[in-house]
Amino acid sequence: MPSRIKNLFPRVIINSRCEKTIEVDLISDNWEKVTASTPSGKSKGKKEIAEIKPDEAVNLIENKIFSEIKGFELCQQTKFDTLLNNLGDNVGSNTKLVLSIAYLKLSSLSLSLENYAYIRHYLTKIDKSFYNFPIPHFNMVNGGVHANNSLNFQEFLVIPKLKASFKENYWAAVDIYQSLKTVLIRSGLGTTIADEGGYSFDLKDDTKVFDLLKIACTEKSLSPGKDIFFGIDASADNLHKSAENLSSIYEKIVANYPLIYIEDPYTENEYKYWLNIMSKKNHNLLIIGDDLTVTNSQYINQYAQKKMINGVIIKPNQIGTVTQTLEAVETAKKNHLKIVVSHRSGETNDDFIADFALAVEADGVKFGAPARGERVAKYNRLLKIEDSLINKTNNK
Ligand code: PEP
Ligand code: MG
Repeated sequence: MPSRIKNLFPRVIINSRCEKTIEVDLISDNWEKVTASTPSGKSKGKKEIAEIKPDEAVNLIENKIFSEIKGFELCQQTKFDTLLNNLGDNVGSNTKLVLSIAYLKLSSLSLSLENYAYIRHYLTKIDKSFYNFPIPHFNMVNGGVHANNSLNFQEFLVIPKLKASFKENYWAAVDIYQSLKTVLIRSGLGTTIADEGGYSFDLKDDTKVFDLLKIACTEKSLSPGKDIFFGIDASADNLHKSAENLSSIYEKIVANYPLIYIEDPYTENEYKYWLNIMSKKNHNLLIIGDDLTVTNSQYINQYAQKKMINGVIIKPNQIGTVTQTLEAVETAKKNHLKIVVSHRSGETNDDFIADFALAVEADGVKFGAPARGERVAKYNRLLKIEDSLINKTNNK
């Protein structure tokens, strides 16, 4: 007999940015119990599904939604998410997502499966039992709306591609992060840690951050351009710079540093600039939509067809349920886009997105710096899964 939802306990908790968010304990009639919580963004895409106030969400879950989902059979994710969507957008993406993730976790537990295995084998069309681990994109330096400093770009990313295990890429990032601190101190720059765990300091020229990153790499015998690559989340909607100006900055960075990734390089309406940056094939640049595409299948399809992007950020809370997030992944794959599963700047310790990324065969993950509990919770989860899969193979 499949288990059913028996009880739930929603509450307001605090996220990594000292803002309120929702956490839910969900309990089955077999007395299995899981917990889920939701993150919040600061540089939100205009077309994201809106959140509601966490206190209102708790009230809604207790007094309206619980009566509708009590007794709901587990392992019916699509049906459950349809019920949540039928409640309307007024219930908020945060209310829907916390329940959708909790339901998924309880379903996995009812079958004694890890979340990634349950998602892979029950919810995706991927017919493989081995797992390709995603390339981690580490946000080493924070700017824009994520830090109180003079840097314009929101994220300065280090992308280790040691062509080895997830662990080796993670360890490389740990070395670079520690080395960067020494470089910053030596250069008389600040080492404050900002929203996503990256360092925050003032610098007149954003492009000079890459010089610091290069030194941090080489001092650990890692080679930028060989083992280590760089990326930017420009989050252009939040920048006060013309597309013309941005284009020349990107050109300068590409010419001088091993840049392989630019997220939201322009605002939505600057169509010809997106096309132009996409056409520079020689640079092997990933042009990623985030605020542009908001994990919405319709927009992902639209902008992929217009050839504005060749990759996409996937953030479950931009769209609201696990099922719709899976649809966004499917649409991205159909359009041959690279997929990067991402955290939000206001995070909790929930590590669900690590399992999700692995299950759907994401090309990359972006969970912040290799520092701060809520960021390393996700990286450490992938580390643990990799370790357990290696042990399983060795013990066969
Ligand atoms: C991002 O823009 O990629 C990001 C993680 O920021 P936020 O969560 O503030 O949208
Ligand atoms: Mg972004």
